[in-house]
Amino acid sequence: MSYEAILRFWTEEIAAPGAWFVPDPEIDAAIRDRFAALIEPAAAGAYDQWLDHASGALALIITLDQFPRNIYRGEARSFAYDAAALRAANTALRRGFDLEVAPQIRAFFYMPLEHSESLYEQDRSVALAEGRLASQPNYVFHAREHRNVIQRFGRFPHRNECLGRTSTPEEAAYLSGGGYNPLSTEADAEAPNIQIMAQKEKDMAELEGKVAVVTGSTSGIGEGCARELAKAGATIIINDHLDSDESRAKADAIAADTGATVAYISADMSKGEDCVRLIRDAEAKFGKVDILVNNAGIQHVEKIEDFPPEKWDLVLAINLSSSFHTIRAAMGGMKERKWGRIVNIASAHGLTASPFKSAYVAAKHGLVGLTKTVALEGADFGVTCNAICPGYVWTPLVEGQLEDQMKAHGKDKDWVIREVMLQRQGMKEFATVEQMGKTAVFLASSGADLITGTTISVDGGWTAL
Ligand code: NAD
Repeated sequence: MSYEAILRFWTEEIAAPGAWFVPDPEIDAAIRDRFAALIEPAAAGAYDQWLDHASGALALIITLDQFPRNIYRGEARSFAYDAAALRAANTALRRGFDLEVAPQIRAFFYMPLEHSESLYEQDRSVALAEGRLASQPNYVFHAREHRNVIQRFGRFPHRNECLGRTSTPEEAAYLSGGGYNPLSTEADAEAPNIQIMAQKEKDMAELEGKVAVVTGSTSGIGEGCARELAKAGATIIINDHLDSDESRAKADAIAADTGATVAYISADMSKGEDCVRLIRDAEAKFGKVDILVNNAGIQHVEKIEDFPPEKWDLVLAINLSSSFHTIRAAMGGMKERKWGRIVNIASAHGLTASPFKSAYVAAKHGLVGLTKTVALEGADFGVTCNAICPGYVWTPLVEGQLEDQMKAHGKDKDWVIREVMLQRQGMKEFATVEQMGKTAVFLASSGADLITGTTISVDGGWTAL
């Protein structure tokens, strides 16, 4: 049996919500005849290779989550494969496969979460439905209804009888009143009794459903931003210009560590056309770009009279012009959706200067100016634009500067760290990439809805001097 045959059956032969969800003995019998033998091996992992791509993953999830419900309708066995279905769904979601299929069938990726008796999975199911199935209000309605039941009872009372569970008096009253009707098609009805999630859980998933692009994010501050945004629930596109296995592996590592969907797109931020392609590819893959973190940056340290003009051009291209190009490409969609968060990683050197960094200081001052202009242009459209101005953060970029600084100042490493890097940083500590990421998350959160056109210094007091 091929996964294509399963998908053909499900999406072509019986493709209609009525046939998917309204009990029909003929359809149940057809599924039993053709697919019953697949279920046990699928649950045992025999088809796990299907999880390498969206179509295969969808077929596996349907096999484990939907087919048992048809074949064993009314029996305990109809729920026996739910744990295996949930495992498959979680793998598929980590890999972003749900966004590779049309919204009409995307919901099947989320159903194992909706069928779970865990409130955590129910919250994820609702967040995914609200964020990624906005065009399918009926699914959003049912996702909320399922969560309401689990919030109220901690389990699905209508399963009690066939699972041999004793109903509580409250559950019995609920069931005799009809309970929740999974066949309801009150698509546009606002679900009644949607209980508000605990504030803590809400904050944790604040960015669920949002799509974030972070430029230059396979190391340092960009990676820190990608990781923190992922932890806050956003879908992430990481980027660098290297097109390497290591870069791709970084996306998988962030996905594995955070549970978020993370994709890698190679694009060279020194080239305007690559900057635009990055945004277009991200939109093509995930449907939109809600959060843009312009982080890619390089440094060159040299006296101005020796500063190579081609280095000046490169620093300006990556540290300033790339932000113009990505913002220009992403702004239209953000304005249309009336929501966008642009975070430019500038620097303390966007507010003040140091010797030997003419190109960098000029680019970062330019970036702060661009930030203010974009903020004014986005103000009527729910699009904010701010700059984070880090002091020294210990990253490969700073490590790489040590030699140049030692050469430019004619001093050793300890002297450069003490007298150049941390000398003006009142707290005498390098900032961390996590702190930068958490600041980016704050700027993307509702708490920062009215913060725009400004700079936030994370510099241990450097620019307070
Ligand atoms: P880093 O060298 O650790 O990371 C830079 C990232 O950008 C890497 O992933 C690299 O592959 C990528 N990159 C480089 N050139 C690229 C290109 N042409 N196209 C796409 N990606 C490219 O640097 P970092 O220290 O994390 O710096 C990140 C940003 O933070 C920069 O804009 C930097 O100016 C700014 N910043 C850093 C510090 C600091 O102390 N580290 C302080 C202030 C501001």
